[in-house]
Amino acid sequence: MTQKAVEILNSLYGYDSFRGHQADIIDHVSAGNNALVLMPTGGGKSICYQIPSMLRDGVGIIISPLIALMQDQVGAMQQLGVKAAFLNSTLSHIEQNQIEQQLLSGDLDLLYIAPERLIQSYTLDLLSRCKLALFAIDEAHCVSQWGHDFRADYLSLSLLSERFPNIPRIALTATADIRTRKEIIERLSLTGAKAYISGFDRPNIRYAIANKTTPKKQLLAFLQQRKQEAGIVYCLSRKKVEDTAQWLSEQGFNALPYHAGLPAQLRQTHQNRFLREDGVIIVATIAFGMGIDKPDVRFVAHLDLPKSIEAYYQETGRAGRDGQPADAWMIYGLQDVVRLQQMAQGSDGSEQFKRAERHKLDAMLGLCEVTSCRRKVLLSYFADEAPNQCGNCDNCQLPPETWDATVAAQKVLSCVYRTGQRFGVVHVMDVLQGKENDKVLQYGHQQLSTFGIGSDIHESQWRSVIRQLVVRGFLRVDLEGYSALQLTDICRPVLKGEQLLHLRKEELKAPSTKKGAAKSYKKTQISLEDQELWDELRECRKYLAEEHNVPPYVIFHDATLKEMLEVMPMSGSELLSLTGVGESKLEKYGADFIEIICRYAETAGAKT
Ligand code: ADP
Ligand code: ZN
Repeated sequence: MTQKAVEILNSLYGYDSFRGHQADIIDHVSAGNNALVLMPTGGGKSICYQIPSMLRDGVGIIISPLIALMQDQVGAMQQLGVKAAFLNSTLSHIEQNQIEQQLLSGDLDLLYIAPERLIQSYTLDLLSRCKLALFAIDEAHCVSQWGHDFRADYLSLSLLSERFPNIPRIALTATADIRTRKEIIERLSLTGAKAYISGFDRPNIRYAIANKTTPKKQLLAFLQQRKQEAGIVYCLSRKKVEDTAQWLSEQGFNALPYHAGLPAQLRQTHQNRFLREDGVIIVATIAFGMGIDKPDVRFVAHLDLPKSIEAYYQETGRAGRDGQPADAWMIYGLQDVVRLQQMAQGSDGSEQFKRAERHKLDAMLGLCEVTSCRRKVLLSYFADEAPNQCGNCDNCQLPPETWDATVAAQKVLSCVYRTGQRFGVVHVMDVLQGKENDKVLQYGHQQLSTFGIGSDIHESQWRSVIRQLVVRGFLRVDLEGYSALQLTDICRPVLKGEQLLHLRKEELKAPSTKKGAAKSYKKTQISLEDQELWDELRECRKYLAEEHNVPPYVIFHDATLKEMLEVMPMSGSELLSLTGVGESKLEKYGADFIEIICRYAETAGAKT
């Protein structure tokens, strides 16, 4: 590794050391070679093309589909003192001319550009007259026609290898299975590129999945401990998005709705507020998220079940890009299972496609129902190795109880059988619990031998038993009929008592969200005595952010502010030793923060 790269990392970014493959990638690309980089969100991809762009002669061209983010990305680089600019459709003619001039006179280190703009012959001609350091193709999975982020313009990027055969190209993505990886290499003509594949693990994300009982109350309990924190709440429908956002606002949270049915202008405003203000909660359908690279999203909450582990991983992955502790929290119930099974079955597509969908859903349900480490299940799905216990998921921290539910399962199965396999969950539970309501009386079900045999177990436990029986395939929900429960072939051994069934025991109260978190990711709560200084530091950051027209995290990340509380730096050199403080930021903001800290230390000293 060249000393130069380390120097840039230290003095410009204010970071101590490279992570994972970063150093190797930078070496490889700086030497003029092609690379494919697969790194999870928050892994630190940007540095892999930014530093080589500075080390090599000429300007680094970064191709990104996310026009909305370019301004912030460029803003962040400028804060570090790097000469960066972007070219996209949001610029005026004059601004565009200016940037072209800078480009031609070799006055830029980094140029961000949208793919549709890049492939215009005007742009290609312009670039052929400049000295180029490299091409970085961000979100490279967009070339895949199978993925949901497909962009036709990405297909044309193979022309880079023809027009600029001597300029190294580095393709980066956070989501790529083996097939997509191959596609990227082929379609971008990255022949001979070295692939750097990092694991999928996001160790700072804590996973928790609970049984859905009283969704709003459960969400509120979860959020109570996270006031002032930025997060995303995903819901399935637009209506639920709006209801939930409004309800959260009434509860005193700064919550905004986001879905494809809202006017574009409003969506944009909400997205901007989420990116720029502190502590905004966005309540959204999955229309929200692609390219949200806000680093300090502290939680992602799912009120509905995503349809696959890929989707879950991608959505939860938007939390904690800054490497600080973050939560992925989800509640789910039988309704979710039924709805998703219905979708998988009802989708038009070949039998093979449906089977694949079904398979993905089963894997997702497996993750929900598992009683051992969730991270292990998640990583195994992506064929990643993982220890048996991660220590940072709900199941590791509070191992769920299981119980011998054989008899309970027999009761459910025979009740379904006796009522003729024509009724849904609610009615079956009513009969089990011996409720003499109109429907029960109408069908004479109070006379069945199974009437009231389940009064010994709480209703939510029954619901859970039924859900687990459906997930495990002992019961089927008749999707064409009226969601009637029906027996399947595999339930015979259970009914005959030949097969024991151990099921997950549902905690009847909302599960606690935090107990003995893994040491390295223990939530560092701001202590009461630090609160005042913390608020002041944040206030100062907010003020500076507004003044410089950048999001607060571009000034300093939360992690840096927390280090200030710990270290109490009172001089420039002390401040410079903190993570995330480089020379440019020291010069721009150092004085403001040092002043606050000194003042605080004095008054604190005076008090004692
Ligand atoms: P990605 O694009 O892979 O999601 P980023 O490039 O945005 O990730 O990096 C995620 C965060 O980690 C950023 O805040 C970045 O500044 C920080 N980061 C990257 N590399 C390092 C490093 N070597 N040491 C400390 N922080 C780093
Ligand atoms: Zn675990």
